[in-house]
Amino acid sequence: MLSIPGFAIVRLAMLPIPIAIAFWAGERHIGLLNWLHLPTLAVVIATYLLMDYAYWWWHWAMHMVPVFWRFHNVHHTDLDLDVTTAARFHFGEMVLSIGLLSVAVILFGIGPIMLVAFFMTFEAATLFHHSNWRLPIRVERILNLILVTPRMHGIHHSIVQRETNSNWGTMFCWWDKLHGTLRRDVPQDAITVGVAAYREEDELTLGKLFALPFRGQREWRLPNGEIPEREPQPAEKLAE
Ligand SMILES: [Zn+2]
Repeated sequence: MLSIPGFAIVRLAMLPIPIAIAFWAGERHIGLLNWLHLPTLAVVIATYLLMDYAYWWWHWAMHMVPVFWRFHNVHHTDLDLDVTTAARFHFGEMVLSIGLLSVAVILFGIGPIMLVAFFMTFEAATLFHHSNWRLPIRVERILNLILVTPRMHGIHHSIVQRETNSNWGTMFCWWDKLHGTLRRDVPQDAITVGVAAYREEDELTLGKLFALPFRGQREWRLPNGEIPEREPQPAEKLAE
């Protein structure tokens, strides 16, 4: 398993190319925020909203586009959630993410300093919502007015496919609300974490996980052939 310093180094390796592009776009006044000349506070707010929303679409595509899911599947095969899950991304997905960051930097005209600031916050949010930190439910419900919390993201790691296909946000919970993909109806203790068809420990070794995107993909079924299901419950607030 990767340690946290290892995690930081691997994730930071995603930055040099987008930073170089941010300098290049700034010099040539390319991209939305380079055209608008907004006050600093507005630039900060716009950067966080635009980039987090771009990542919402990215995460959606990771699940909905079959070739991307092959890579993102590796992240979801973890059988229990903790901060190390945040480091469990396939090399291929990390390389693809560099492409997304670069395109977003050009389109939105994100400056190099704002890019690094956003990226640090984004990584902190990823560590936070993958953590097994059991916050009091009242605290999570307040945080969940704005942020993606561990209980909310836990539902995204369920072996029930409908639950995995929800809660695609990283930092703010609003995008899932906007798209009707917010799910808060499953209590934390009721969730079995993982991908239904990939639950045998001996299949989840580093080598096999690295090869997983390049092999035939299994249907969303448990090894015994069952499809995991659960009745959706109405839920205004995050379930305990
Ligand atoms: Zn996912």
